Amino acid sequence: MDRIVIVGGGLSGLVAAFRLRRAAVARNRAVRITILESEDRPGGKMRSDREDGFVIERGPNGFLDSRPNALALMKDLDAEALLLRADATAKKRFVCRDGRLVRLPETPPAFLKSPLLSGAGKRRLMHEPWIPAGTAHDESIGDLAARRMGAEARDYLVDPMVSGIYAGDPSRLSAGAALPHLVQMERRYGSWIRGAIALQGGAFGLMGKMAGRVFGRGSGGGISAGPSGTLTSFRGGVSTLVQVLADRAGADLHLDAPVTSLERIATGWLVGAGTAEGATRYHPADAVVLACPADAAAGLLQSAFPSLSRELAAIPYASIAVVATAFARADLPEGAVDGFGFLVPEVEHRPILGVLWDSSIFPDRAPPGQVLLRAMVGGARHPELAAMPDDDLVAVVRQQIAELMGIRATPTRVRVIRWARGIPQYNVGHLDRLGRIDASLARLPGLFLCHNSYRGISLDDCCREATLASGRVLAHLGVPACEGGA
Ligand SMILES: Cc1cc2nc3c(=O)[nH]c(=O)nc-3n(C[C@H](O)[C@H](O)[C@H](O)COP(=O)(O)OP(=O)(O)OC[C@H]3O[C@@H](n4cnc5c(N)ncnc54)[C@H](O)[C@@H]3O)c2cc1C
Repeated sequence: MDRIVIVGGGLSGLVAAFRLRRAAVARNRAVRITILESEDRPGGKMRSDREDGFVIERGPNGFLDSRPNALALMKDLDAEALLLRADATAKKRFVCRDGRLVRLPETPPAFLKSPLLSGAGKRRLMHEPWIPAGTAHDESIGDLAARRMGAEARDYLVDPMVSGIYAGDPSRLSAGAALPHLVQMERRYGSWIRGAIALQGGAFGLMGKMAGRVFGRGSGGGISAGPSGTLTSFRGGVSTLVQVLADRAGADLHLDAPVTSLERIATGWLVGAGTAEGATRYHPADAVVLACPADAAAGLLQSAFPSLSRELAAIPYASIAVVATAFARADLPEGAVDGFGFLVPEVEHRPILGVLWDSSIFPDRAPPGQVLLRAMVGGARHPELAAMPDDDLVAVVRQQIAELMGIRATPTRVRVIRWARGIPQYNVGHLDRLGRIDASLARLPGLFLCHNSYRGISLDDCCREATLASGRVLAHLGVPACEGGA
């Protein structure tokens, strides 16, 4: 019997387990899959707090249906009936400009009329097809966007999208690692606008479609799902998927089992994990999947494999606070929450990244007569804001909601959720670092990494990477591949 130990029961670990179990069953192979999770529940950052008719997402609220991996997972779980598409109103997205919420234009005529960019900013953006392709080995998103679209479009289009997805700093995030399709489109078509036209077969509807091409693929995480595809979640919140996976993964799931040691032994690996009783239990394994954050993996590898550990520890994270507020619908100004929510560009100098109008996107997130908003605070540029005391955080969010949305009512409910190491930052140099990590792993057969710290931060990316990792585990165990992969 092959023994596989997965460290971490977040989405990546759960999907890896499900894929491995499914493949083993299909090939009539006996495997024992053990998931060791340090917390008292599975799901990692995927967690929905259900209280009094509210569904408050502590982290992610969904994925884009324009991407295939999460949908494929739901199909393979035979759980498509649990999917929940965003309400049509969520098409309306807003960006803060000069202290006002401006609707993100979706068509060329709307773009021309929109106050989101000045006349000069629009002309510079429309010059994009004539800007030569870049040659940098690894360029920041900010530099790439300014070079192709101009500084104003960088500030009011790209910056808010990037902070919406990564809570990140575009001047540090690597375009190749964080938004690879942007780099590919420039290489292939010489221009994003030409690329969007070629891919869509015409210029009509270009603005929205280009935005989709530019922001929708390879992203989808964070507080903005981007305009491409429909934001899709699960009835009852993202915890619904966690529960289905935990039930169907066919793994021994150990909770309150923080892994504290990892040792290479003659027969493979030995994983030491705490138990609820305070002891350490050792799990021998033929293959180990580290589905925990890179810094946790670094800690486990520190003494035996210091150079690999250093590379993993060097992957930075943005801290983020999620401030959920609920209001009585009757207390809100007319049309105040008609849409997806808004994002705040850094140049607006406001202490929040944006606000998602959760119960407008998914009406089941609040009971009748109530609305639920979730504000994001902090991120790579302002970790000090995410660290403010609860009362200050709530006061800041209420002030911004009052100024930008006109909501001055007292919230009926407030929750503050903090993620000290919330979103991995694929900064310039990330791809080179992944190359060095892969080279180290090639010398450690039976050890695999699988987490959103590496090759995609979104739920859909996790589904893809976990499927790929399970394929690598099976290859290591000598289990023949069958059509459709793991
Ligand atoms: C505020 C916020 C909003 C987000 N919004 C979206 C969104 O709308 N859409 C989207 O696609 N993505 C979003 N994301 C990203 C999404 O949450 C991640 O892609 C996904 O949850 C990562 O799953 P994971 O399993 O890779 O990692 P994690 O969720 O980090 O899971 C890792 C697991 O490993 C466990 N662990 C750590 N150390 C150990 C150890 N030593 N021993 C045992 N277990 C250990 C942890 O407890 C955890 O359960 C958001 C993230 C945040 C923080």
